[in-house]
Amino acid sequence: MVLARGGLVDLLVREATPIGKPDSLAQIREAGGQIHTSTEIATAAFQEDEIELSLTSGERLNCSLAIVQIGFLSAKETFERLALVLNDDGSIAVDPYFETSRQGIFAVGDVHGDIKLIAVAWAEGIQAAIHAFKEITSPYWLNEKRLKDHKIALIGEKIARAASKARHP
Ligand SMILES: Cc1cc2nc3c(=O)[nH]c(=O)nc-3n(C[C@H](O)[C@H](O)[C@H](O)COP(=O)(O)OP(=O)(O)OC[C@H]3O[C@@H](n4cnc5c(N)ncnc54)[C@H](O)[C@@H]3O)c2cc1C
Repeated sequence: MVLARGGLVDLLVREATPIGKPDSLAQIREAGGQIHTSTEIATAAFQEDEIELSLTSGERLNCSLAIVQIGFLSAKETFERLALVLNDDGSIAVDPYFETSRQGIFAVGDVHGDIKLIAVAWAEGIQAAIHAFKEITSPYWLNEKRLKDHKIALIGEKIARAASKARHP
């Protein structure tokens, strides 16, 4: 987008072969952008209105803006503090109803999903809200989800509760 507006772009890639989408890389090259591989920013310093970068390859570059895009890491502390079961990649494990390993705590959107899109997060939020509402408003023995997932356990619980009620009316 910067190239289309007459700006200059240098794309610095740590790997020897850029792993970006081939058509995006082709667009950058065609529009006159420079792709530097096997390099990283070693130092950065203000040089009047510009930023002077020295790269691990020995090159120096002056630029107005440095945009860092070096990947995504989940900040897992909150999830761990809540003792939620996590997937191997650090995302929150949810069931088909977006409920986490802790009853009554739901997770939607980027924190659990493979498809990280706004529309997906919105849609999941609505579904989770409906399931949460059902969970709050339905007695557990009428709850569709619980019946489906834990049918036998529920029947056992129901019998135990009924027996207890009969003993202590
Ligand atoms: C550069 C970039 C470009 C993107 N482009 C697109 C696009 O074009 N189209 C598209 O559909 N999607 C795009 N996405 C993905 C989209 O932004 C996400 O999928 C979407 O925002 C996920 O929504 P979310 O509510 O799950 O998470 P977020 O929008 O990340 O919201 C999570 C919120 O929780 C807050 N938070 C975090 N920790 C805590 C805490 N401990 N306590 C309280 N609050 C906390 C955060 O501050 C944040 O406000 C893009 C993402 C990025 C990074």
